[in-house]
Amino acid sequence: EAAAKAAAHLADTEPPTIFDKIVSKEIPANIIYEDDEALAFRDIQPQAPVHFLVIPKKRNGLTRLSKASPEHKALLGHLMWVAQHVAMKENLGDGFRVVVNDGPNGCQSVYHLHLHIMGGRQLTWPPG
Ligand code: ADP
Repeated sequence: EAAAKAAAHLADTEPPTIFDKIVSKEIPANIIYEDDEALAFRDIQPQAPVHFLVIPKKRNGLTRLSKASPEHKALLGHLMWVAQHVAMKENLGDGFRVVVNDGPNGCQSVYHLHLHIMGGRQLTWPPG
C-alpha cells in the first residue's frame, strides 16, 4: 500500500498529448536521439536553425515542470544530459539555449514536459 501511495502522485490524471503519439510512433517526427527514458526530435515550428525538443518517454505526472517531485530528480537530470549530448551532435559547440515553458504564463501549449533546445544563430536576451 505504501508503494501504491508513493506512485499515486506520479499517475497521470491529465489527458495524453500529441507527444505520446510521437513516442509510440503513431505520428511521425524527426527523431534525432532515443534511449530507454528520453526522446529528442526536431520542433515542427523551429524558432532557430536548430530547434529540437527533449521529452521523457513516460510522462509520469510531469505534465509541466512545476509538477516535479523528488522522485523525478534523476529523470530531470537525465533530460538535461540528453539536451547537451544532442546539442553537441548538432554542432552547437558555440552555444545554445535550453528553455522549459511552464503553464499559461510560460506559454506552455503541450502538457508533457519538454526541454526546448535552440541554437545555430546568435540568440538574443531577454526573450519575449
Ligand atoms: P509553445 O507552443 O508556446 O512553444 P510549448 O513549450 O508547450 O509551447 O512547446 C510545444 C512545442 O511543440 C512547440 O514549439 C511546437 O512547435 C512543438 N510541436 C507541437 N507539435 C509538434 C509535432 N507534432 N512535432 C514536433 N513538434 C511539435
